[in-house]
Order: sequence, then structure tokens, then C-alpha cells
Amino acid sequence: MAKLMGKGSKSYSILKMKCPRCQEGEFFISHAYDIKNAGNLHERCSKCNLKYEKEPGFFQGAMYVSYGLGVALFVTLWVSFNLFFPSMSTGFQVTVVVVSSIVLTPIMYAFSKIIWVNLFNKYEGTDALAKEKSTS
Ligand SMILES: [Zn+2]
Repeated sequence: MAKLMGKGSKSYSILKMKCPRCQEGEFFISHAYDIKNAGNLHERCSKCNLKYEKEPGFFQGAMYVSYGLGVALFVTLWVSFNLFFPSMSTGFQVTVVVVSSIVLTPIMYAFSKIIWVNLFNKYEGTDALAKEKSTS
């Protein structure tokens, strides 16, 4: 059974932004709000040598994830407004949605990539390192 939390689960790799295969190596070069390096990832995992970009254009698919996250954010905000602040004006609601979308764009962009790469790689633990060495 797949673990939901902790090491070995996809959420661990996603939330910690670690390599999807060994969950030891870093996935991104820098943090999401480092504008110069935002969304830039290492070519390979420093621990298990997994090549993150399987093929050229691999991460274009992350756009779909990013779109899904955007919709989820929008729905969450909209439902919260209606539940907790029903008297808030529409103009203000729109402003909050727009501002939070802009502020969260870097982190959503980062999450879309790490989620995408997790769809195609599963956790193999420290065995991954040995495996890579024996096959190459
Ligand atoms: Zn790795």
C-alpha cells in the first residue's frame, strides 16, 4: 500500500521538493521566490542520478498541473469568501483572487513541476542508487 505521508510517499517528495525517486537529492536549484532561478531544476539528482527531464519538453506537461492548481486555488478562495465573508463585495473578492494568484505563481509553478515529475517516477529509496550503477 502506498504511503500517504512521510518518507516514501509522493507528498514527501512534493512538499520537500526532493527527487521523486530517492527523496534525498534536491529537485530545484533554488527556492520558488528566487526570481533568477525560479522553477529551474537540477539536470540530475545529486544522489541517485535520476535524469529529471526525461526527454526534451517533458515539463511542458506540467502546464496541466499548473492549470489544475490554479483552478483549485480559485475554487478554494471563492468557497471561503462565500462561507466566511458573504458580505464582501465582488470587486474586493476579485482583487484578492488576482493578488493571491500573482503572489502564489512562483510556488504554484514549482509545485506543478515537482507534482508532474512524481507522476512519472516512483520512490525506490536508497536502492535507486545501486540500481542506476548496475544498469549504466
Ligand atoms: Zn534521487
